[in-house]
Amino acid sequence: MTSIKETMKRKLDVTTFLSKVEKPARYIGGEKNSIIKNPDDQDLIFGFAFPDIYEIGMSYMGMQILYNIVNDREGISCERIFAPGIDMEEIMRKNNFPLFTLENKIPLAELDILGFTLQYEMSFTNILNMLELGGLPLKSSDRDESHPLVIAGGSCAFNPEPLANFIDAFIIGDGEEALVQVLEEYKNHKKSGGSKESFLKCASKTSDLGVYVPKFYNEIYNDDGTIKSYEKTYEEANDVIEKAIIKDIDQVDFPENPIVPLIETVHDRAVVETFRGCTRGCRFCQAGIIYRPIRERSKNRIIEIAKNQLRSTGHDELSILSLSTSDYSCFEPLATELMDYCKKENVSLSLPSLRLDTFSFNVLEQIQGYKKSGLTFAPEAGTQRLRDVINKGITEDDIFEAVSQAIELGWRTVKLYFMIGLPTETYEDLDGIADIARKIMEIHRESGRGGRFNVTVSVSNFVPKAHTPFQWVGQDTVESFRDKHRYLQEKLRIKGVKFNYHDDGVSVIEGILARGDRRICDLLLEAHKLGCKFDGWSEHFSKEKWDKAAKNAGIDSSFFAQRSRHENEVLPWDKIHSGVTREFLWKEWKRAEEGIITWDCRYGCVGCGVNRKVECKWGGIYANDNN
Ligand code: SF4
Repeated sequence: MTSIKETMKRKLDVTTFLSKVEKPARYIGGEKNSIIKNPDDQDLIFGFAFPDIYEIGMSYMGMQILYNIVNDREGISCERIFAPGIDMEEIMRKNNFPLFTLENKIPLAELDILGFTLQYEMSFTNILNMLELGGLPLKSSDRDESHPLVIAGGSCAFNPEPLANFIDAFIIGDGEEALVQVLEEYKNHKKSGGSKESFLKCASKTSDLGVYVPKFYNEIYNDDGTIKSYEKTYEEANDVIEKAIIKDIDQVDFPENPIVPLIETVHDRAVVETFRGCTRGCRFCQAGIIYRPIRERSKNRIIEIAKNQLRSTGHDELSILSLSTSDYSCFEPLATELMDYCKKENVSLSLPSLRLDTFSFNVLEQIQGYKKSGLTFAPEAGTQRLRDVINKGITEDDIFEAVSQAIELGWRTVKLYFMIGLPTETYEDLDGIADIARKIMEIHRESGRGGRFNVTVSVSNFVPKAHTPFQWVGQDTVESFRDKHRYLQEKLRIKGVKFNYHDDGVSVIEGILARGDRRICDLLLEAHKLGCKFDGWSEHFSKEKWDKAAKNAGIDSSFFAQRSRHENEVLPWDKIHSGVTREFLWKEWKRAEEGIITWDCRYGCVGCGVNRKVECKWGGIYANDNN
């Protein structure tokens, strides 16, 4: 790929390749509501890169949010980039044709800023592949002033170290304001003749911007391989990086004219975010910590956005987005109003992850698309003991009562989601998974309704994540996951019950990347050299290649995945502050070990610490209902 840059021109002609690829619409752009600005009139061109294929990236609402906000700025354009499919990549490599933006077909190397969104660790090798396809040196240290500034943000940026050698700067936290500020400041900086280096220095010492510049921090190791400390290479860089935070999400734009893809994507529908954050405190959940505190969009604004989106896109489905639909404080009036509107407009309404109480059943009965389709529960663990360990506020009675009600109403399928390999898990907890499935089949039999009835049990493998109470625990080995899958396969030989499980090899690599330090950059580089890409897709994942990559990079996988960390160990992400204190997380881990639950903090603040930085008005708002 060394000669790619030599063939670059400002606007590439991609049409010659389109007839040779499986899905040309992935590469042509020009969809309804896409924004094409004249690049020659812009002060700054920002390439927003999603490290997976078009159909997945276009279903990610965060991209549409930032696309609109950035394009609203004078003199700045935002253009999209996706990972090319395997067929397109082959053609590009054969023809020395660089990766390009969808809007103006600009080669990556000619952008001012290239920004990756990091949603899933298993897309990290795609980032390296995309840099290479764009003709850019992979390592920041090998890029110079002629190359675009390469930035990244998103949930995986909360442990940025595995990508630290490849990314110039990470934006930690909410992107709506911080990204625009970074782009504006870089634009002004460039205009006044400033260098990339001087910009990075400036950004790294600005508090509240949430910018982390990895090259200004080195990891120093102890003899046992753990981190001893960080050494700053630029004295003025912030000691800790506080996440950027939107205080009032009603005050930031949400797309009312989202792009309408030309081909089917994972989610083809209008989507409105109702609130950000979660108060439930599931101990395995990273999103529940890093997006705190709860910030709600007003009901009227949600409805206005929904109506405008439906009008401007022609979608026939509307969904709402949050970590827990029913937790929206005005959920019942919102759902009622949306249901009425959708019915009138003949639009189907999808309300994911509802708490299954009577109101929700009434809603489910009324809305199109849901009626008598699969009922979904995520108990996550098979016994109450283990559900208390993970602080999952759901009991077997909740499940069985909801199932009885659903069967009465004519539902025919129940889907159950569990995790295996959770801290303190024993085989009794696995037996509990089979017991729940068996009991649900029994409830159906006893209901006397007859007919076909199915339960699907889907099991994922627990991956400890940074910034959670389980960040200190060791992950199961591939062998242990396999034994548990085999055990469950036997236990779930129950008529009417189907069993699915995730690839154990993928989960262990995800575990290494999720809690790795800067040494993991070498692993990623080796994996990339061996051709790893699209690693989250089981048909592309190769455990053999990753094992070989670990060997080549001198990485002991068990050190990063299976090792338990002690209380005072310096963690690679310690300098990144989510707002939730380390003391709170440790306290939660100790409560988990003892099986003590911590209540949803809407019933009373439990002291996570996020309110030290930003007003959190949710602690105890339901205090009067707490009975
Ligand atoms: S500060 Fe209190 S109420 Fe707010 S998110 Fe944290 S625990 Fe919950």
